[in-house]
Amino acid sequence: MASESEKSGGAEDLPVIVCGGGVIGCALAYFLTEKKKRVVIVEQERIAAAASGRAGGFLALDWCDSDEVGPLARASFRLHAELSEQLAKEGHDTLYRRVDTLALSIRGDAPLPEGAAKKGSLPAWLNRGVRGVSKLGTQETTAQVQPRLFTEALFDVASKRGASLRKGSVTGLLFEDSSSSSAKGEETEVAGVLVDGEPLRASQVVLAMGPWTCKAAEWLKGAGSFPRVTGQRYHSILMRPKEPITGHACFCNDEGKGEDFEIYPRSNNDVYVCGSPDFGPLPDHAGLLDACVEEERVALIKALSDGVSDALRECEVEERSCCWLPFVPDNIPMMGKVPGVRNLFASTGHGCWGILNGPASGLAMAELLVDGESKSLNLHPFSPSRFATTIK
Ligand SMILES: Cc1cc2nc3c(=O)[nH]c(=O)nc-3n(C[C@H](O)[C@H](O)[C@H](O)COP(=O)(O)OP(=O)(O)OC[C@H]3O[C@@H](n4cnc5c(N)ncnc54)[C@H](O)[C@@H]3O)c2cc1C
Repeated sequence: MASESEKSGGAEDLPVIVCGGGVIGCALAYFLTEKKKRVVIVEQERIAAAASGRAGGFLALDWCDSDEVGPLARASFRLHAELSEQLAKEGHDTLYRRVDTLALSIRGDAPLPEGAAKKGSLPAWLNRGVRGVSKLGTQETTAQVQPRLFTEALFDVASKRGASLRKGSVTGLLFEDSSSSSAKGEETEVAGVLVDGEPLRASQVVLAMGPWTCKAAEWLKGAGSFPRVTGQRYHSILMRPKEPITGHACFCNDEGKGEDFEIYPRSNNDVYVCGSPDFGPLPDHAGLLDACVEEERVALIKALSDGVSDALRECEVEERSCCWLPFVPDNIPMMGKVPGVRNLFASTGHGCWGILNGPASGLAMAELLVDGESKSLNLHPFSPSRFATTIK
């Protein structure tokens, strides 16, 4: 809980308020507290309640090299390896490991001939339907982490260094009296947030609410400029085979059904499978995500994974889930100061790579907030100001 001084705003050293306890908010809190900053995370449900607790956790060194995200992804891939060791020292096993990654093309679900796996590079548990296999990544270039454990571990270490969690919904921004600043032509100044309508003062505010960051456009009440933040829904399931299967991450295309899906076996013997994007309105609150799960999507993902493996065919669905990925209009994460508003920052729009890119995003944003600029990453391509002239 926030202290009384934070509520009243009497303290000189006000905290940074991070809105949203997903991987982006928790990684930021981790690095801010490493820099001795006071941090309050305001989270409406629980840490890792949304996509950050429901994602695959696949990590790739060089899969974003074709656009501006490349340096961020490379830095973050390396940081994951370091963090897994540091978090382990704090007692957290985040199931981080390097993996081999395959692309599979699938047609039908007929059993493969005996010994098919031995002839090619196919693991034995992929014994149905596979018509083609190629290598997408090696243990040098691809890895995985359990996203919920990772996000919770980041928060736990941040909280040991003094970060606190304020349970509640951010419902608006707290503005300093703008009459004098607007008369002088200065930026509007944010002095904190409203949590369920109650003021909570801050030195700086960071919007990291994943797809729900869309609400900030309304909170700004015409001050500054903010792009449209949207969400894209995905479903996933979790299974536990009787016998452990190899840790190959598989990107599958079922040519017959016209569906893409991904299979991520984890080191604790869980197998996570997610399907293609589907459509549904973003619920108002992360606590409503479980109620948004559609059984037809779950059944489709189960049928797709049954089609490639007897080991998966024998499994029950242990967990079913859906969540929304956060996007901004150009699909490049948006990280930096919100133009036209002093003390207000955003870190969102990480799309399908938020678990990968969370650590380097958190480090770069912590440097920006504390030191005024990021030395670890050029944040310029990610600046919210790129939307300032086009979208209001
Ligand atoms: C099926 C699926 C698989 C994925 N697989 C991978 C993968 O393999 N690798 C990878 O790198 N990425 C993956 N991703 C993407 C990744 O999960 C996201 O990019 C990332 O989790 C986004 O994190 P976030 O912190 O921005 O948002 P979120 O995780 O959505 O967190 C936002 C938080 O803000 C809180 N919040 C919202 N509104 C408010 C409010 N008003 N007040 C207070 N709190 C609020 C929510 O409760 C939530 O906890 C996957 C995503 C999906 C959906």
